Amino acid sequence: MSAIDLYARATPGFDERVADTLDRLADAAALHAGRIVQATSLGAEDMVITDLIARHDLRIAIATLDTGRLHAETLALADAAERRYGLPIERFRPEATAALHFVRTHGELAMRDSVALRKACCALRKLEPLSRLLQGRSAWVTGLRREQSDARAEVPFEEHDADTGRTKLNPLADWSQADVWHYIAHHGVPYNALHDRFFPSIGCEPCTRAVALGEDIRAGRWWWEQQSAKECGLHVAGPLSDEIGGAPAVSPLPEHQTR
Ligand code: SF4
Repeated sequence: MSAIDLYARATPGFDERVADTLDRLADAAALHAGRIVQATSLGAEDMVITDLIARHDLRIAIATLDTGRLHAETLALADAAERRYGLPIERFRPEATAALHFVRTHGELAMRDSVALRKACCALRKLEPLSRLLQGRSAWVTGLRREQSDARAEVPFEEHDADTGRTKLNPLADWSQADVWHYIAHHGVPYNALHDRFFPSIGCEPCTRAVALGEDIRAGRWWWEQQSAKECGLHVAGPLSDEIGGAPAVSPLPEHQTR
């Protein structure tokens, strides 16, 4: 059964949410002309946003983090999206020397040896490239949704970081998982093939596994760690997002079965 079969469902107010989302993106594109970027994880939510940007010819650049450890399916999706939309998706990669030094010093699977090493890996493969991705930008767009977790229950449509002077836009904040997949189904939006194989949250290949029905949607991420340690450094207050470099979580079950 595909992710669309599992999750896509028309919900009341869907058309209005799509229209409001488009308005928010169009307003931001005009306000931050030439200085706004979608930082896509290539997850389902981000693919919806990319589709809206392309469909409505919005002046919003698109960029992603290629950590060097992504699944082949994720890399293939980036290429497929570029072909589909005729838009470049700029890849930001870790500094080659730093990545090589880390692997030579600590090993290919060092992230499983300790939380500290895992965080160090995330820092060099995600945090540092993300800081470059955001350089010169006054605004960036993410696919965060309030429904994704308790920690995101208050995600605003827009937030301003006084330290960086940068605005973060979360235009899908009020979308449900059913909305996301209904949009994907309706518009034939390309999505990561791993979603059809019970990978609800897709990060780097060594740090992601499929989950079983009924498991927590984050259970497949850094599964060898205690739940409380599952912070990658992107998921902190401020301008960074956990979802960059890994797809936003989707439940392995339809929403009505997970509540
Ligand atoms: Fe490294 Fe895993 Fe973090 Fe990717 S998710 S940057 S492989 S520790």
